[in-house]
Order: sequence, then C-alpha cells, then structure tokens
Amino acid sequence: MPFSTFFDSQARMIAIFLVCLISCATLEAQQSETWHAGVSRDVITPPEYMWMSGYGGRKAPADGKIHDLYVRVACLQPEPKTPKFLFVSLDLVGVPVEMATKLSAEFAKLYGIPRENIMLACSHTHCGPALDHDLSWMLAMDDKDWKQVRDYQKWLNDRIRSAVKNAITDLKPAQIHYGNGTCGFATNRRPPIGEGPIDHSVPVLRISDKQGTIQGVIFGYACHNTTLGIQQWCGDYAGFAQLNLEDTYPDAVAMFFTGCGADQNPLPRRTMELCEKYGRLLSVAVQDVVKESMQPLASTMSGRFETVSLEFAEAPTREQIELKLKNGDGYDKNWAKNQLADLEDDGKIELTYAYPVQTWRLGDELTWIALGGEVVIDYALRLKAKLGNESTWVTGYANDVMCYIPSERVLKEGGYEGATSMRYYQKPSVWKAGLEDKIVNVVQSQVDALKTE
Ligand SMILES: [Zn+2]
Repeated sequence: MPFSTFFDSQARMIAIFLVCLISCATLEAQQSETWHAGVSRDVITPPEYMWMSGYGGRKAPADGKIHDLYVRVACLQPEPKTPKFLFVSLDLVGVPVEMATKLSAEFAKLYGIPRENIMLACSHTHCGPALDHDLSWMLAMDDKDWKQVRDYQKWLNDRIRSAVKNAITDLKPAQIHYGNGTCGFATNRRPPIGEGPIDHSVPVLRISDKQGTIQGVIFGYACHNTTLGIQQWCGDYAGFAQLNLEDTYPDAVAMFFTGCGADQNPLPRRTMELCEKYGRLLSVAVQDVVKESMQPLASTMSGRFETVSLEFAEAPTREQIELKLKNGDGYDKNWAKNQLADLEDDGKIELTYAYPVQTWRLGDELTWIALGGEVVIDYALRLKAKLGNESTWVTGYANDVMCYIPSERVLKEGGYEGATSMRYYQKPSVWKAGLEDKIVNVVQSQVDALKTE
C-alpha cells in the first residue's frame, strides 16, 4: 500500500472514530438533559364495607360506592443514574405517619430513593375509609372494627408499594412543564364565613412523553374535600376532577394534592350535583393551564426533608383527664383514654411533636413546599408572598396528617382550626404560640440550601 493511501485510510478511520465519539457524546448530552418520568394508578377502594373517616358523626360503615378511590404515583428522574423522586397522591382523608415512615424506608432500601425525594399527599376526602391513625379514634368503632381498619391499612400499604413499583417501571424520556390557573369555589369557612383569606390558585405540573402526549398531570387546590357527607365511597370534588382529567387525556394519570385548605370549604355543598360541578370546574381550570403556554422545566431537581419540633401549649392533669372520662361526650372519652394511656406508658404526656417540612426545587425556578397536617391558608399566602407567587407551590396534608396547623392568627382566634379540633386527633392541648415562624423559618432554610446547591 502506498504511503499516501495508507495515510488516507488511517485518516478516514480517525475521522469515523471522531464522528462516533462526537455523536455518542451528543447522545449522552441529550440524554443527560432529558427528564425521565413514569406514572401509575391503582384502586384503593376497600374490598369490603368498613368505617369511613372525616366526620365524627357517622354511626355506621360505608354501604355503597360513587366511584373508586385510587393511589396515583408519579416517578420523576431529572438525570439518568441520579436518585428518583416519588410523588404519591391518595384519595384518602390523611397520611398516617407510620405508613409514610415505613414505606419511605422501604423505598430507600429497594430503589435508593432518599426520604427527601418522597412526597405523600392526600385529597382529604371525607368519603374514604378510616385509617390506622389517631383520627380514627373519633369514630364509634369497636375492637372488631379496629381490626378491619388495621387489616385495610396493610392491604393499602401493599397497593401503594405496587403502584410505586409500576411507576418506576414506567420511566421513560419526558418533558415537564408547569403553570398556574385559578378556580373559584373554595370559601373561607371560619366565621364570618366568606370573609377570611383564600387562595384560588391551581398549580399544574404536566408530564408528557417526547412526542408531547400527556402522561401525567399533577394539580392542587386549597380546599377541603367536604362537598359530600354520604355513606358511599367517593373522592369528592378531587375524585371527580381526577377522573374527568383522565377521560380528557386518556394516556394520563391525574394526581391531586390538597393545598393549605384547612380553613376552606367548597360552598355551597352537600349535593352530588355540586360535587360533580366542582370537580368539572377544577378539571377545566387544569385543562386551561395545560392548553396554554406552560413553562418548561430544566431537568434538575433536588429536595430537603426534616422534622421541626413543635410544642403543645400544656399537658392536661390527671384530674382534668379523669373528669373528661367521667363527664365528657364520646369524643372526650376516647381522648381521655388516649391521654391516660400516654401517662401510663411514659409517665408523662409528650408535649413535642416532630413536624415534617419538605421542599423540592424543580428546574431553575419552581419551589414546591410540602407541609404536614391540616394547614390553614395563611401559610400558603405568606410563603408565596415571600418566595414568589407564581413559582411557589404549597402542598398541605403531606407526609403526616397529625392535626390542624393554625397560623398565629388562627391560633389566637381559636375556634375549630385553632383549638377545638385537637381532641379529634388525640392531641393533649392546642399548639404553643410560635409555630408559624418555626415552620416558615425551616422552609426558608430549605429553600436557601436548595438554591445554593
Ligand atoms: Zn379537615
């Protein structure tokens, strides 16, 4: 072979090698810029009729079904080989902390997903099953009923496990967009009704595949799911909204989260027509956002999770508890039994509570905060004013629904959300003043840490 021909062939091979190298690098760069997402949905309607949660006044278990209740999961992965994120939406009254802790630990072990990357949210429907947590003590259940509740909780945990596994299996390249809409039916329910603060915003996260087909829609609204108070399983307005969106986008799973709607009710209420109508209104609000120009999110995501120690104002004395046990109503009696059990187990009533605060940052702009408990609207308004109205979302009822979380204003005013609801959650007393600043300061520190990462 003449030297020049040999040189040409060598040059060609080097050129081919370089082209391969560049295209491989480009492919990798493209992949590394791409979100991956997976979604799943599974039924969590109890297989048999059992006690319902949300209202203390019910005297009997469920006896029918309007539509199924679901667990819905989105798994998001900003970069290949980086830890995944899980968003779990439940058509349930709450998230028992034991369930959240146990499942999160399992997901960490099985899938390498750290606690800060897992958000468990619920719709707070009042037409779902009783769960194995403190709120169920407000129900007139006997030992047999409690056993059924605990058996359901185990079955439910298994359903969540399998939904999470399916969402992870479903991971594929995706595009993620966000936007905000509005919907008007939430009303501040504290007296004088309709005059207190509200937040009508509807945050929306759209998950599409590379072709643009919508795979998932995550959306929120700050309002109680208490349109209905019937004896049949139903996701209330959020249940209707999710099903309506899943009809509209047949390839998609629609996942609801409750915002800081603890002092907000859908008013007027108590008819099926109103419930379906609120579901449709919310679905249309989400569709309007999905159709409009949503902001694409760069494929970066990070999270923080910690518990902050909140304090109850005071421990009831043994005499006070015994008086409630003797003279109180059914709720007081159950409350008193639980306080006495705490006294006997630990020698004292625990006055601190490990309250969960979580923050996610998506792309360069979206801050998504998740707070435990039934959080009043003041928190969302304060955090959004502080951190940016359009780019801050606040999920309430997340990771642990232990009782109401009043703002300093609501705590001072008292009433249901500030004071009288605490007995239904078996808490020793009202919260001690200062909780609002404690929570907001932890959120701020998480946001600061995520921004400097
Ligand atoms: Zn509530």
